[in-house]
Amino acid sequence: MSKTNGKDAGGPETGKIRETASQGDVEHKSKDKKAKKEARKARADDHPPSSAAWARAVDAGLGTAPSLSPHRAPPLPRAAPGIVTVEPGTRFSLSHVDPDATGGLEKAEAKAALAGVRERIKALQEKLYAEHARSLLVVFQAIDTGGKDGTIRSVLEGVNPQGCRVWSFKVPSAEELDQDFLWRYHLRAPGRGLIGVFNRSHYEDVLVVRVKGLVPEETWCERYGLINDFERLLTLSGTTILKFFLHISKDEQKERLEARLEDPDKHWKFDPADLTERKSWDAYRTAFDDALSRCSTPYAPWHVVPANRKWARNLMVARTIADTLEAMDPQFPPAREGIAGLTVPD
Ligand code: AMP
Ligand code: MG
Repeated sequence: MSKTNGKDAGGPETGKIRETASQGDVEHKSKDKKAKKEARKARADDHPPSSAAWARAVDAGLGTAPSLSPHRAPPLPRAAPGIVTVEPGTRFSLSHVDPDATGGLEKAEAKAALAGVRERIKALQEKLYAEHARSLLVVFQAIDTGGKDGTIRSVLEGVNPQGCRVWSFKVPSAEELDQDFLWRYHLRAPGRGLIGVFNRSHYEDVLVVRVKGLVPEETWCERYGLINDFERLLTLSGTTILKFFLHISKDEQKERLEARLEDPDKHWKFDPADLTERKSWDAYRTAFDDALSRCSTPYAPWHVVPANRKWARNLMVARTIADTLEAMDPQFPPAREGIAGLTVPD
């Protein structure tokens, strides 16, 4: 289907990301060599031997995602303080991000600041909708109880529902399984003027699908490159892509699952399958590390959000969305010709 529209505080800066996009091949290759060497070393430390073959395949592909010429790259601001942006072409591990980090924020000030950031999002969304030229796709991934639903509810409060589509992706239907794995996501990519939100996304096809062995290894292995190509297509078609990984600790997940069991009002959220999935915590971590490393590109980098503290998480995500919309700089369209001096008859 085609579409016609158009660091933590120490994370990479936008300038750096865009610089990567505009570098020439030669510079890229020597950087690649060094990154691959470091990646192989990190691999040996971080991953169990059973995934060694896959690790080699992943590292061989690091940094090979095609870049966009600078004039077609979307305007990407630096992510909000506290967020760690995965530098494209490098090996990344969640073990280096503290899920308790708050970006230097205090709870009271974060809550107070959020209201103002929501207002910014609201005003910018109105312009994006009126402009009807480009779109924003916000992707959320996390382990079960990671806070995807809560973040969406909090950050998008006040946004005009008409200009926003939220899609929650579940186990694919029989119809969806009859198509290529990206079909159901492409179908829901936001059209001109819209903010699209993916609650889970095409990344499930290299996460749960990999961990549960739902397709052969060679099939999910190919998907990283296909995902990068898909996101490149969307970007070139006028969609700015923001990808957030909400990072919680294993202890925090235990507390959240217990809260769902203890509070009758939260029983509906408790899925016994989450306990089975929790046993695969380490396998998910390996799959997350690989997806974040392989699919952080100059045009659609991954942002890892420390998410144990909900109030800090909400502000970090909201700020990054507001800053991204601001960098996109949507404009109200010019008034139609001939309306100056018109009056409305009684
Ligand atoms: P939830 O988001 O908690 O309502 O659960 C949705 C479930 O659908 C999760 O267990 C996901 O792992 C699962 N899911 C989402 N996408 C896929 C996919 N492409 N293949 C298999 N399972 C999926
Ligand atoms: Mg669930």
